[in-house]
Amino acid sequence: PVRVRFAPSPTGPLHIGGVRTALYNYLFARRHGGTMILRIEDTDSQRFVPGAEEYILESLRWCGIGIDEGVGVGGPHAPYRQSERREIYLRYALQLVEAGWAYYAFDTAEELDALRREAEARGEAFAYNHAVRGRLATSLALPAEEVKARIDRGDQWVIRFKMPVDEVVKMDDLIRGHVEVNTSTLDDKVLYKSADALPTYHLANIVDDHLMEISHVIRGEEWLPSLPLHYLLYRAFGWESSQPAFAHLPLLLKPTGGGKLSKRDGDKMGFPVFPLFWTSPATGETARGYREDGYFPEAFINMLALLGWNPGTEQELFSMQELIDNFSLERVSKSGARFQPDKAKWFNAQYMHRKTDAELAAVCQPILREHGIEVPDEAAGRAAGIMKERAQLITDLWDLISYFFVAPAEYEEKQTRKYWKGQNPAILAELRGVLAGIDDFSKENTERIVHGWIDEKGYGMGQVMNTLRLALVGAGKGPGMYDVTEFIGREECLRRIDRLLK
Ligand code: GLU
Repeated sequence: PVRVRFAPSPTGPLHIGGVRTALYNYLFARRHGGTMILRIEDTDSQRFVPGAEEYILESLRWCGIGIDEGVGVGGPHAPYRQSERREIYLRYALQLVEAGWAYYAFDTAEELDALRREAEARGEAFAYNHAVRGRLATSLALPAEEVKARIDRGDQWVIRFKMPVDEVVKMDDLIRGHVEVNTSTLDDKVLYKSADALPTYHLANIVDDHLMEISHVIRGEEWLPSLPLHYLLYRAFGWESSQPAFAHLPLLLKPTGGGKLSKRDGDKMGFPVFPLFWTSPATGETARGYREDGYFPEAFINMLALLGWNPGTEQELFSMQELIDNFSLERVSKSGARFQPDKAKWFNAQYMHRKTDAELAAVCQPILREHGIEVPDEAAGRAAGIMKERAQLITDLWDLISYFFVAPAEYEEKQTRKYWKGQNPAILAELRGVLAGIDDFSKENTERIVHGWIDEKGYGMGQVMNTLRLALVGAGKGPGMYDVTEFIGREECLRRIDRLLK
């Protein structure tokens, strides 16, 4: 059975690259009738950020990425938060030491610094590997009694993986294909630390993927360099036959193409790189989110799905179900996908234009209420429906529909100078009389009567309509005039005209 996991570390808000990883896991799980698991990898206490886990959960909920098993849901392999599984990992670390695949290291930060300086003096980069492990205070160099004595007296230690020397690890990735790496280029990664009695990412990740019976590991390309170690860990534990398949997703690139999209790029370039608004609990710094910027989650997901995957057709608009029906790892590209903020807006506009009035009412009502306007859903939806073609983001809507709900509090200066002169006030007063006599205030009927009257009198169409616009909306922009007259109705029309006239 297909069992995939999204395994974020709660080190801050989830970046859109992380959301895409979650999405592809989810699509893959649904496509194959599998299980989507959420595991929180919080063993790095130094990088833990309060609120980050809640942020992750809320982001997934907003995006419609459902979790079948894991944090917040539970399941047969609970707990799914690694900090709550800490007893499990030491056992496995010790198993590797006993089998000769790992060793204790007692070296201090000062000793390592000295070695680092030594290497730099030789013009080399320091690596903790086969060349140094025998020269340091490790269980490979010290007599067994001494190792035991140090542990017993409470010295701090770590367990490191004993990377084999000069061996070629052959790996297969569902996206990258076959990859080979010589182990001599790799260092001896720390697997477990006595100081906080916690495993590092590598150990916890492999142990949990095994215990949770993960069939496919789908994650960001930044983890590809860890793959040889992960392969070797499966071998060291004797779990090769149930080792998951791996798929490393291409990077999201900056809009300019130059390099990886970073958490800082959004602020620099004026678009969000996070799904939801975020406030850092430590510094109070904030970051924009797609939700608060006015995006529909379906549009955001649609945009994100196509950053790195293509359906092989011209189709661009996909509902979540269509994504599930069409998704395959074979169509995920090897090369990075350039993020395009304008395309994100374009997607949102496509969804906006296809929304029904009832759907629009649901997003408009909170905005209207924020402005102190209480109207029936029907009115909110109808107003937004009239204007939706001009909107890209939900946050565009207020400026477009406010004219339907609030009479002008002031009149734009430029428009006033242009139209509130000459005959126009007198003509507006005359038009008031015409409007007052119309019973059927539908857009078509009002237009027919008003235009007939303008023709008959020989007035300038632009002059009259712009003067009326000044009275009804107080500005040179806004909805079509007859959309306004119909929407606000006769009494409100006359009231707005009287206010300008007096
Ligand atoms: N905790 C890792 C992360 O934050 C998970 C990597 C993986 O999926 O193996 O990206």
